[in-house]
Amino acid sequence: MDYFDISMDLSEEDMSMRQVARDFAEEVVRPISRELDVMSPEDVIAEGSPLWTFLRKSYELGYHTILLPEAYGGQGLTPLQIAVIFEEIAWASGGLATLLGASCFPFFIACMTADKRLVEEFVIPFCNCSDGSIRGCWAITEPDHGSDYISSEPFTRDPAIRNNMQATRDGDEWVLNGQKSGWVSGGTIATHALLFCQADQSLGLAGGGICICPLEVEGVSRGKPVRKIGCRDLNQGEIYFDEVRIPDYYMFCDPDFYPEMLDMVLAAANASLGLGTAGMARAAFEEALTYARQRVQGGVPLIEHRSVRQRLFEMFSKVEMCRAFSRAVINLNFNISPPIPEYSLAAKTMCSQLCFEVTSEAMQLLGGYGLTEDGFVEKLFRDARSALIGDGCNEVLQAHGGQMLAEFYPRRQDDLL
Ligand SMILES: Cc1cc2nc3c(=O)[nH]c(=O)nc-3n(C[C@H](O)[C@H](O)[C@H](O)COP(=O)(O)OP(=O)(O)OC[C@H]3O[C@@H](n4cnc5c(N)ncnc54)[C@H](O)[C@@H]3O)c2cc1C
Repeated sequence: MDYFDISMDLSEEDMSMRQVARDFAEEVVRPISRELDVMSPEDVIAEGSPLWTFLRKSYELGYHTILLPEAYGGQGLTPLQIAVIFEEIAWASGGLATLLGASCFPFFIACMTADKRLVEEFVIPFCNCSDGSIRGCWAITEPDHGSDYISSEPFTRDPAIRNNMQATRDGDEWVLNGQKSGWVSGGTIATHALLFCQADQSLGLAGGGICICPLEVEGVSRGKPVRKIGCRDLNQGEIYFDEVRIPDYYMFCDPDFYPEMLDMVLAAANASLGLGTAGMARAAFEEALTYARQRVQGGVPLIEHRSVRQRLFEMFSKVEMCRAFSRAVINLNFNISPPIPEYSLAAKTMCSQLCFEVTSEAMQLLGGYGLTEDGFVEKLFRDARSALIGDGCNEVLQAHGGQMLAEFYPRRQDDLL
């Protein structure tokens, strides 16, 4: 279903990109996502799975590099173009949109470091990859530390609390030992990780380090892919590190810069997830609208009932709020450096909540049919539920955002670079 675009500044080029993305979403991504949704997590990543077709075709279209600058071989898109493409892919599948975003993430962050060695070794080959064979992931969550990673409360400076993932310096190398949790998106199939670890034990969890770690090396092993309620097309699983050695320049962030870098990474991830919610919510709204025009109750189509129109209008309003706010935030935070994290956190938490409400209401509007696997809404509902937890539990992100308000508000317009 076509939709009116609230962004009046879309150029001809933007609209043609949107059309290409929409065709791809409709013809390739959604059918593949629905196939993967009913497969076991092991089959999703098995040889011959349609997952690999999705990745290959996405890479052929250059969608793995939508966040990356043209100078390194990326698409060099404007924030609005990124938003439009991401919305279309998430309309087809929140899980596969997340996989694509995660795949790009280590390389996107490597660009932000502007370290020539990282760019040449990792970013350029990734941008040149057109068959899906180079895939990133963001490995932050650990078995014993999920929300802890987002917190800056006093316990994070307690040296008695240790991360599961340890990094120790040895000459001009770092030695990595430990594990990441089963929640890492793309964890069992990624070739590279943006890896969060503890680089200074004396500082507790605040002694964090961030590195790029190739995963197809000795000492890295993977767990089983996780089985879950939603985003079943999104591979997730544990990664283990046993005496893995990396050169010191792969560790591009040490504890001195760690809090700032963590907020920059969160700002990018949360802003991107906000965009995805507009696609998922729109998909649910469209299903509800179509059904309300077809289903007859009380002798007339549902949409003829005043209360149903009111419910549809509320859903429509929420879709547009997801779209407008997440686009405004990506436009802000992808145009300034450093970003203002609380805006990204607000986009992720509010838009994922609205998206969940829209998918839930769509299910209600479809009545019993909404619960069946013949329809698409129950999948959207399950996928949207995950977004309240992925990239940080909403309530924890809100507490973190609230701390930023307490420290920095009001911010000054002149402080922007
Ligand atoms: C779809 C999806 C994709 C994901 N992708 C990735 C990925 O690519 N990489 C990755 O590393 N991880 C990923 N995750 C993991 C995700 O980031 C974590 O699940 C999330 O940060 C929460 O951590 P947890 O599951 O350990 O929950 P916990 O941190 O254990 O939280 C459990 C509950 O306790 C509450 N809570 C926790 N701490 C506090 C506190 N201090 N005060 C008050 N309440 C608290 C939380 O709000 C929550 O309700 C993904 C998760 C999902 C669902």
